[in-house]
Amino acid sequence: MSATVIDGKAAAAALIANVQAGAAALEARTGVTPGLAVVIVGQDPASQVYVGAKGRMAEDCGFKSVQHALPADIAEAELLALVAALNADPTIHGILLQLPLPKPLDPLPIIRTIHPAKDVDGLNEVNAGRVALGDIGRAFVPCTPAGAMVLIRAALPSLHGKTAVVLGRSNLVGKPVASLLLAADCTVTVAHSRTVDLPALCRTADILVVAVGRPEMVEGDWIKPGAVVIDVGINRVPDPGKGEGKTRLVGDVAFADARERALAITPVPGGVGPMTIAMLMQNTLLAATRAAGRSGTPDPEG
Ligand code: NAP
Repeated sequence: MSATVIDGKAAAAALIANVQAGAAALEARTGVTPGLAVVIVGQDPASQVYVGAKGRMAEDCGFKSVQHALPADIAEAELLALVAALNADPTIHGILLQLPLPKPLDPLPIIRTIHPAKDVDGLNEVNAGRVALGDIGRAFVPCTPAGAMVLIRAALPSLHGKTAVVLGRSNLVGKPVASLLLAADCTVTVAHSRTVDLPALCRTADILVVAVGRPEMVEGDWIKPGAVVIDVGINRVPDPGKGEGKTRLVGDVAFADARERALAITPVPGGVGPMTIAMLMQNTLLAATRAAGRSGTPDPEG
């Protein structure tokens, strides 16, 4: 069996078309233009690329798009002051702090101060807590997990009772994906670097979500025949075939072998990655829509 390759680009394009229509309708109805502020600290090349792509996509969606590029040696107090100013700015509905932050900055105290109603990355405690409690409707769901769920639902007509294994337990991906799968009535196991016999565990999974950041770690024979495989990993590896010093992107799953056993699988690139940006736009539209429905200052609980 050769799996269906899940087309994340096409799914993201469909989502973006909806967001564009939604943004235009919101503006026509209320005069509100969704506003997204992206804060980037330092010069990490991958982060620069991601931030550029987010800014362009926000503009394509008809949003107000603002970027704050700050030096790597910025003091935490200055960063907190910027977040406070963005929290108070009524034209900004979504605030995204691009991660990772350069050391020694700790992202948690800063993310904690992003107003829950503007936390379109879904990473502060209020939104993370809502996702963990299964209160998905009131949360901003983190973008990568939300995108992964859209792709899983497109591949499987029903998730009820499915066995799901999530490989990776980060706050950014693993934990929220596990909560979302649980809320969708899957039976979920979260695995990590201390898990014993990963291959055997993975072979039990009807749905396998992999977010470890280890190039092609999940081998073909770890896949249960007929499984849906979502590869979140983005790893740059040498590609001598392209020339000296050249690289290519691979996921955390050995794609060619896994494809022979899976029902459906996401490629890297072109799978979860495009969905992440699309979900950020959807969350920003949601934040603007909620703000337009409120009067005065957003309530502290978001
Ligand atoms: P992370 O914070 O580094 O977490 C990695 C997780 O993988 C940890 O829970 C770790 O276990 C586990 N792990 C590492 N090595 C392992 C091993 N050998 N066996 C089993 N588990 C292992 O990473 P992340 O932020 O979740 O990101 C994961 C990957 O997804 C990265 O490649 C990242 O670039 C990619 N990513 C992609 C997108 C996208 O838009 N497509 C978005 C976010 C992240 P411990 O907890 O025990 O250390």
